[in-house]
Amino acid sequence: MRHRIAVVGGGPAGLTFARVLHRHGHPVTVLERDPAPDARPPGGTLDLHEGLGQLALHKAGLLADFRALSRSEGQAMRILDADGTVLRDWRPRPDDRANPEIDRGQLRDLLLGPLGVQWGRGVTRVVPGARDGVVVHFADGRQEAFDLVVGADGAWSRVRPAISPVTPHYTGVTSVEASLTDIDIRHPGLARLIGDGSVAVYGVNRSLVAQRTSGGHAKVYATFRAALDWQTNPDRETNPDRQMNPDRETNPDRQMNLDLADGEALRSHLLALFDGWAAPVLDLLRHGTAFVRRPLYVLPVSHTWTHVSGVTLLGDAAHLMPPLGAGANLAMLEGAELAESIATATATVTAPGDLDEVVRTFEEQMWARAGRWAKITTAGLDRLVSPDPTEALALFDEVQPS
Ligand SMILES: Cc1cc2nc3c(=O)[nH]c(=O)nc-3n(C[C@H](O)[C@H](O)[C@H](O)COP(=O)(O)OP(=O)(O)OC[C@H]3O[C@@H](n4cnc5c(N)ncnc54)[C@H](O)[C@@H]3O)c2cc1C
Repeated sequence: MRHRIAVVGGGPAGLTFARVLHRHGHPVTVLERDPAPDARPPGGTLDLHEGLGQLALHKAGLLADFRALSRSEGQAMRILDADGTVLRDWRPRPDDRANPEIDRGQLRDLLLGPLGVQWGRGVTRVVPGARDGVVVHFADGRQEAFDLVVGADGAWSRVRPAISPVTPHYTGVTSVEASLTDIDIRHPGLARLIGDGSVAVYGVNRSLVAQRTSGGHAKVYATFRAALDWQTNPDRETNPDRQMNPDRETNPDRQMNLDLADGEALRSHLLALFDGWAAPVLDLLRHGTAFVRRPLYVLPVSHTWTHVSGVTLLGDAAHLMPPLGAGANLAMLEGAELAESIATATATVTAPGDLDEVVRTFEEQMWARAGRWAKITTAGLDRLVSPDPTEALALFDEVQPS
């Protein structure tokens, strides 16, 4: 039986799900809010692990294409202290395929391939239990019914409320992303500092990480502990001296209203926050452009729900966790696994409700694996943005092959 299946969201989770179903000849409707694939900058680079993201690409028949596009050398990692002293300088072997890097835009295009995504179809809510199936409501007021609706619409999922009341909470850690362009030509010193992969510098409750992307560009991430409204109240950033003096919280001289759209103001603010760090490291901020604030939100470590017929979640919509190299990998593998299970099951099931058992089994498998990774990444974030910067180095030594 051919079920009417829709996936909401054309990110790594939704596109992998759709691509694997497509490979098995099963039709699927992909509903994406963005008006076009290049409607916004795709972001930086993702490392795809052998047993997770790469396994998903294998299931989609795309592993060879991934290997041709990805950067094995991008796994290289250099760690410095705030004085600029190199503490670790790890490089992969040329044949190391454990975690190669790929630009998000390249991955999106690879997954898109022949898929007919419906762009500009923002979903506002999903209502299960109707006679005709699960009803999807769109921003333009239209609605459409499906037998199964898969919410792969990220952190602020509009599908999630149909099955779970839980919403993401702020971790207390914010990242500001900046871009560096043509580093080999325009910033050769920074190109050497970043190397083929990443450079990370850890200080007290803050870090600066730069990652090379394809085409000679790089992304910079300044990460620090701060209240959610840090841009209007700098004293609530995690400067230990300030925190110990509560009077300063209300000192009007310290009030400011940092315009997050003002790149120069943001740059100055970050340079003050990282004051005292080695000059070549601060050049990552001095030369960065296109600053974007990213407060880090998470869902509870063990987010589960009572199964609702005809609706499920994948990826960040189900288990948003700190960005420590797992989220896209899990999202893709979940998409591939659910699609494979559906493709296998549709050969035998005869009624729409029969898919429920398949989805229920998938959900239990997803919760168990995602729960393990959520614990690992939550503990990891605490150690990477820690009052004791040696914690970050210790974590690197624990996970990195020698
Ligand atoms: C700085 C940073 C670095 C990271 N690095 C890594 C890494 O190296 N490796 C890794 O595995 N993970 C990494 N992650 C995590 C990873 O980005 C996410 O876990 C991953 O993108 C989740 O994929 P997703 O498809 O579930 O959701 P998303 O990527 O958020 O995609 C959701 C899609 O749904 C669409 N959408 C949203 N709302 C609606 C709506 N109402 N209607 C229709 N469409 C909608 C969006 O436009 C988007 O296309 C990183 C995250 C960050 C922030």
